[in-house]
Amino acid sequence: MKVLDKADDVLASVINWKNDGRRVGFVPTMGALHDGHLSLVRSSNAENDVTVISIFVNPTQFNDPLDFQKYPRTLQSDLAQLKKMEQVVVFHPRVEDIYPGGPDNQPMYHFGYLDHILEGEHRAGHFAGVGQVVARLLHLVPANTVYLGQKDYQQSLVIKKLIVEILGIPIEVVICPIIREPDGLAMSSRNVRLNVEQRKDATLIFQALQFVKSNLRHASIEDLERQAINMILKGNTIREVDYFKILLADSLIAPENDSTNEKLITLTAVQFDGVRLIDNILLY
Ligand code: AMP
Repeated sequence: MKVLDKADDVLASVINWKNDGRRVGFVPTMGALHDGHLSLVRSSNAENDVTVISIFVNPTQFNDPLDFQKYPRTLQSDLAQLKKMEQVVVFHPRVEDIYPGGPDNQPMYHFGYLDHILEGEHRAGHFAGVGQVVARLLHLVPANTVYLGQKDYQQSLVIKKLIVEILGIPIEVVICPIIREPDGLAMSSRNVRLNVEQRKDATLIFQALQFVKSNLRHASIEDLERQAINMILKGNTIREVDYFKILLADSLIAPENDSTNEKLITLTAVQFDGVRLIDNILLY
């Protein structure tokens, strides 16, 4: 494992590797690595000669300054986990490398409908920040393929749109499955911020998603959403369900009727005191 922190170095390295005929995979992260992140690195390693993993907590995608401040930063243990992996290069830039002259100097992108629903609705400006950092990272790491987690499903649609429709760059996007704890909770860097009671209640999220999957077509979509929300709110430490939706998987548009044949997904965001978690499962 090699660590690069200079923007110029990473760009020059990626260009050299590609000129030498080596395939490059890219895994963008905010660090505090867990098995979910490592699964993306493994997928990339299986299909490429080199995997670049970036570790950068991007200030411009946090709508809540306290969430940014409290976001776990565990560089030493991140590097220790990656040390065992072959063909991995870590890119750990500073804010000045990503935003020379400040974030206002960097273009902003808009994603239409996706900006206004689910995460876009509840985290104002979030996807503008995601678009800004991903565009800059992809400029510095012009990989063959970028690996994203289904965990951030809406974000992966936003990034696909950025790459294909907005930037029009020849980078393939691979979406990898969600890695979960044995009790079903989706792995997340924010899970370490849950106390014991909250951690117990957090399992309700996956249970509610599974409930929807098991009961789809046995009840109306509206009923399923309502019952799932009630299941989650049984957790004493759960303060709010920001949303619980069953939508068309390709577009995140609401299905026209309960018996649609199109591929569906169910997604939720749940708030505890001080921690907000998201999760989803595909219903096909
Ligand atoms: P983050 O560090 O939270 O920005 O996540 C970096 C990448 O890892 C994103 O593409 C996430 O969707 C992905 N990721 C996060 N959690 C998981 C998980 N539990 N399983 C699979 N991928 C994940």
